[in-house]
Amino acid sequence: MMLTRQLIFRRSTKCVPEALNICRLSHKLSRHLPISNVLKQPVKPIVYRSIRQASTNSGVKKTLPLIIGISTVGGAIVAYNVLRKKESPAKETDEDEFEDKPFVQEHLQEDLALLEEFGPIPYLLIGAGSASYAAYRAIRTKDPTAKVLMIGDEAFLPYMRPPLSKEMWFAKDPNVAETLSFTQWDGKSRSIFYEHPSFYFSMKELLDNKNGGISVIRGKKVVKIDPAAQVVYLDKGEKISYKKCLVATGAKPKNLPLFENADNSVKKHVTLFRTIRDFQKLEKIVKKNDSVVIVGGGFLGSELACGIAYKRGPSGLKVTQLFPETGNLGKVLPEYLSIWISKKMEKEGVKIIPEVDVKAVSMKGKQVELLLSNDQAVTADHIIVAVGADPNTEFAKASGLEVDPVHGGFVVNTEMEARKNLWIAGDVSCFYDVNLGRRRIEHHDHAVVSGRLAGENMAGESKPYWHQSMFWSDLGPEISFEAIGVVDSSLPTVGVFTKPDEKEESKLIVDGSEKADDSKTEEKSEIKADTAPRAPNISDNYGKGIIFYLREDTIVGIALWNVLGKMQIARQIINESKSQDDISEIAKLFDLYTTEESSA
Ligand SMILES: Cc1cc2nc3c(=O)[nH]c(=O)nc-3n(C[C@H](O)[C@H](O)[C@H](O)COP(=O)(O)OP(=O)(O)OC[C@H]3O[C@@H](n4cnc5c(N)ncnc54)[C@H](O)[C@@H]3O)c2cc1C
Repeated sequence: MMLTRQLIFRRSTKCVPEALNICRLSHKLSRHLPISNVLKQPVKPIVYRSIRQASTNSGVKKTLPLIIGISTVGGAIVAYNVLRKKESPAKETDEDEFEDKPFVQEHLQEDLALLEEFGPIPYLLIGAGSASYAAYRAIRTKDPTAKVLMIGDEAFLPYMRPPLSKEMWFAKDPNVAETLSFTQWDGKSRSIFYEHPSFYFSMKELLDNKNGGISVIRGKKVVKIDPAAQVVYLDKGEKISYKKCLVATGAKPKNLPLFENADNSVKKHVTLFRTIRDFQKLEKIVKKNDSVVIVGGGFLGSELACGIAYKRGPSGLKVTQLFPETGNLGKVLPEYLSIWISKKMEKEGVKIIPEVDVKAVSMKGKQVELLLSNDQAVTADHIIVAVGADPNTEFAKASGLEVDPVHGGFVVNTEMEARKNLWIAGDVSCFYDVNLGRRRIEHHDHAVVSGRLAGENMAGESKPYWHQSMFWSDLGPEISFEAIGVVDSSLPTVGVFTKPDEKEESKLIVDGSEKADDSKTEEKSEIKADTAPRAPNISDNYGKGIIFYLREDTIVGIALWNVLGKMQIARQIINESKSQDDISEIAKLFDLYTTEESSA
């Protein structure tokens, strides 16, 4: 049973308001006071975590013993179902209302002239996202009088993206698209922006202030970097010289060629989702229309499906999600778990169509019609395409920067450095992880960790990437998980679960369901080292557990399924490259039978 629909930021986010306040205070003080002491306070990690209250315990008085499931999952593209035969009347959508008006930064030319007069800016951050913001804070901690200039092509000051697909859809405030606030872990409302606008200096203030600070140029795109001359070029040919530069340009949503090449009449009804603007646009569309289809079964598509279904309630809006995998998050989670999630999401009001591709798209009256891979059709007022993201590396060629042919993103070393005095962080960095090899990660915590590391190194450190970042997702009121390392469903996995239904007899099943009955074993309240593994069963209920991802018998990834506060243990296991032979013992470290309250 769902205990609450309110999304809250909890536990690990607790440090954030304090950390931001320290930062804000120190920055403001810097206009009037010597700041070095204030800034010497440690900057705590910018970690955000959202979860529904008591989600792990909902409807559960007590957990019962475990199931161990081993699976190797491949993707599949099979058939599909037709969702709705009935056409619902589309409401008129005024597309002009949603047109993006380009943001024009006031006094830009004057500011650039001031900058030219000043000479190379000590720290230049390209991209005004989470990685850049984390770098800014690290720089100011190491170099308290640093002058930092950030350039972003969005109209907004730095903000965090995760609430855009989660908390913002569950907000009770009807004006959420304007206030851009959400409810965090302690039930308090907070802004999606890292800082109040008054936190940032104008260019003149920044250049004049002997204690430094930060200024942001918005609505401007960097089109080229000359790493030898240490100059960046903006879209109208403007030049900015730097001493140290960070590239943190993030990623942009992928589209499907089908939608890209469609008529404008179709395109008007299609949204790609990444920014505040996209949220503002989609929120209006969801309020006005009767049906949406979400194409894509990954994190973004699945979170949006849950959020949008909640926003209008089960009778308000038809929400359909379709994807080629067999279940939601099918590229990340083992198949049994992703199918289980899909069933849960259907209960939350999302119609799931797995194992399909979109073959064709056209208008049918005022609706968009999608022809799927089994020749059936689905119509909707609006389509959301959530099929992944591509790193923003457009200026790589013009700048002579290397892009990784396998993972995408700018190639950097373990110190996040691409060239002399040029660092890369966040979604757009392809870095060398000393434990897990070359990687590129598109997650908030990685943006913070890598941005901070790059910032520290820009300010004179020479630190390697060693801290494994984590990520999380919340889907509906009963599903919340955190993960670390390589979490990829194409790897073999071992899952250790408690059963949330105390009426069910616990079973340990060896080698698939046929032998299940022979190996029935009663467990009570601990994970036994000699537990025999079994294949997952369709009727299993996955209340709480750990999923280990294996590469050549080594644990390379861990997902904590409705298990809270154990990320540090998982991180240590990954860092120590533990063998799968130890899994039963390792699983005990997570103390799955401790209730949320007692582990807090
Ligand atoms: C809706 C949504 C929900 C998410 N939820 C989660 C979650 O629950 N958990 C999680 O771990 N991760 C989540 N993520 C991923 C996470 O937000 C990203 O990994 C993170 O934002 C990456 O930070 P970044 O600084 O690298 O890039 P970004 O935040 O994308 O910032 C890069 C900025 O640079 C700008 N830019 C690009 N090119 C240029 C240029 N040439 N010149 C100037 N500016 C440029 C971009 O417009 C952008 O503003 C989510 C992402 C989205 C979109």
